[in-house]
Amino acid sequence: MTIELSTPLSQLPTVGPRTERLLIKLGLRTARDLLFYYPFRYDDFSQVSKISNLQIDVTATIKARVDLIKNWRSPRKRMILTEAILSDDSSSIKAIWFRQPFLIKVIKPGDELFLSGKVEKELLNFQLINPTYEKVKSIPLHTARLVPIYPTTARLTQKQIRYLVKLSQAALPKINDWLPLTIIARQKLIDLKTALRQIHFPAKESILQRARFRLKFDELFLIQLGALRIKEELKKEKAPLIGFKENETKKFVESLPFLLTQAQRKAAWEILKDLEKANPMNRLLEGDVGSGKTVVAAIAIFNTALNKFQSAIMAPTEILAQQHFVTLKKLFSQSKIKIGLLTSSAVRLTGKKEIKKKELLEKNEDGKIDILVGTHALIQKDVRFKNLGLVTIDEQHRFGVEQRKKLKEINLSSTDWIPHLLSMTATPIPRSLALTVYGDLDLSVLDEMPPGRKRVFTKVVPPEKRIKAYQFIRMEIKKGRQVFVICPLIEESDKLGVKAVTTEYKKLSKEIFPDLKIGILHGKIKAKEKEQVMQDFLKGKLDILVSTAVVEVGIDVPNATIMMIEGSERFGLAQLHQFRGRVGRGEHQSYCFLFTEHSGATVNQRLNALVKSHNGFYLAEQDLKFRGPGEVYGSRQSGFLPNLRIARLTDYGLIKTTRLEAENLLKDSPELAKYPILKRKMANFTESVHLE
Ligand code: ADP
Ligand code: MG
Repeated sequence: MTIELSTPLSQLPTVGPRTERLLIKLGLRTARDLLFYYPFRYDDFSQVSKISNLQIDVTATIKARVDLIKNWRSPRKRMILTEAILSDDSSSIKAIWFRQPFLIKVIKPGDELFLSGKVEKELLNFQLINPTYEKVKSIPLHTARLVPIYPTTARLTQKQIRYLVKLSQAALPKINDWLPLTIIARQKLIDLKTALRQIHFPAKESILQRARFRLKFDELFLIQLGALRIKEELKKEKAPLIGFKENETKKFVESLPFLLTQAQRKAAWEILKDLEKANPMNRLLEGDVGSGKTVVAAIAIFNTALNKFQSAIMAPTEILAQQHFVTLKKLFSQSKIKIGLLTSSAVRLTGKKEIKKKELLEKNEDGKIDILVGTHALIQKDVRFKNLGLVTIDEQHRFGVEQRKKLKEINLSSTDWIPHLLSMTATPIPRSLALTVYGDLDLSVLDEMPPGRKRVFTKVVPPEKRIKAYQFIRMEIKKGRQVFVICPLIEESDKLGVKAVTTEYKKLSKEIFPDLKIGILHGKIKAKEKEQVMQDFLKGKLDILVSTAVVEVGIDVPNATIMMIEGSERFGLAQLHQFRGRVGRGEHQSYCFLFTEHSGATVNQRLNALVKSHNGFYLAEQDLKFRGPGEVYGSRQSGFLPNLRIARLTDYGLIKTTRLEAENLLKDSPELAKYPILKRKMANFTESVHLE
């Protein structure tokens, strides 16, 4: 049969319904899918040894003839063994396989085989135990070469996958290289067909490197191109022109009870410049917990209001929305700016004692409200604005094309403009990484903390000091303070962390602090109840809040002074740093206690970085060195990191190169009209990578 790129794998030999199901589990449906299913490592069986040169305990490959093969039952273990005597022109050796009696049907005396496996010693003789074998033919797949090892699922063997990949490679000639020739030449890339051939069955290490480089390049290049195209698309959209009101802004900044940091000034300036443009801003404001993002956003919101446009602020939880409402009310108390709050449990408007939801919505539609604060429901439910000019999103990473389209619909006065967008996050992402993760956004960074902050005293607590730590916690609570306890996810299966946190809750409330009021939060608790528990904690009705990391604790509780983290070695430094940022928000000295389940030199070294440094970006960089981005920023499933097949988020050099090449290309051909194959590839790619 001829195999096309689109040939279903079920039509290939050896693929029955069972194998088909297993392949689908791996996302593999067609020959094309398999060509792009890259090995995650290789066994180097490329050196073929003479039997006489074999050494004990070394994994080796030989090329030998089968002299004899037979099954026999081991007397003690009552297991079937297959034993073969093999020889080459230097010597002979025994090979043994366990529980594979069918082998005598496959391997016959006289066959020429490649065998790869570990050499062991039995009495005086060497033997190969469970070697991988393959009949000698022109191109070996499983032995005598760099052998690909694929990510697989139980019951689908490496041999099966290799065999199917090999078959699928018959479709390789149909692959069109989508990269422009100029880029291929400039970056000295090998062509795509060769790369796709060599990545699976490399002729040698040096070619494998080049194949890998080419495929990494493609992956990152397509991501950058996708991100840049979103940017370009956005440039075609119209946005309200929000002029910089210099005098009023100056006065507002002077009215603040503090001086802006240099970083805040710069970020505010970048945002104000964007607002003056006729196309929508799409900017991320990134800054450590407590770096003062809110006031930067407030400056943008202030200018928006002065220009007679409305703003919306969206927070991930109701409590945070309420806190933003209170903060903005204070910040704008000198002005006539009207601020509304809309959450499912609270409806408010500045200057009014009470207001019904309906009335608030009507006023909003009439443009009588300058700022509307709420949760994400603000732009998803039937809320309409007269002239929404700026949307600010707190602690959310992405805002997709779809959501942005919605923003068009909720404006009553104009259907053809899109409001400016400002996202804020405390997740510290080094710039180079951000280029991949947030490639479609412009970035402003608050890399400086307001002066005079009290450091949160951080300590790694050894097991023998646990009791002492509890005593200290009790004293703090006696003084009226509150405590967070964070538990890690212990088992994979316990995705929501219910188990770990319930155990900890029981221990604390029954044994350690039976007299104190303790609350619990985990992923299984309903949103409404969660809000209630948070409210109780905020109001001081609870002394201790035990929570998983999956639960959003991004709330400002100035009275909480202790952050206690169990199994802290399981978390990334950047994440621990974020937990720590939950305390130290009030006037009192605060503490972060790190407990570990397993200690050791590396654990201590890692955690000590946290004791010494209070800089989220530095800690994130450290963590990227120790662990990968997946570990640092949470699993791929969380949707935060792009799902990369071969490139790494730490391929900084390549990320920059691909960005530049993508920029150049779009300058030359903004719609990719000159590059139809690439354009088609982009369309599929954006769908599959899910850039939004
Ligand atoms: P985050 O970046 O975590 O959202 P916030 O905006 O909530 O931080 O600011 C944290 C605290 O720091 C607030 O109480 C805010 O008033 C204060 N703050 C912000 N900027 C400064 C500054 N330049 N100097 C002193 N305090 C500041
Ligand atoms: Mg904040």
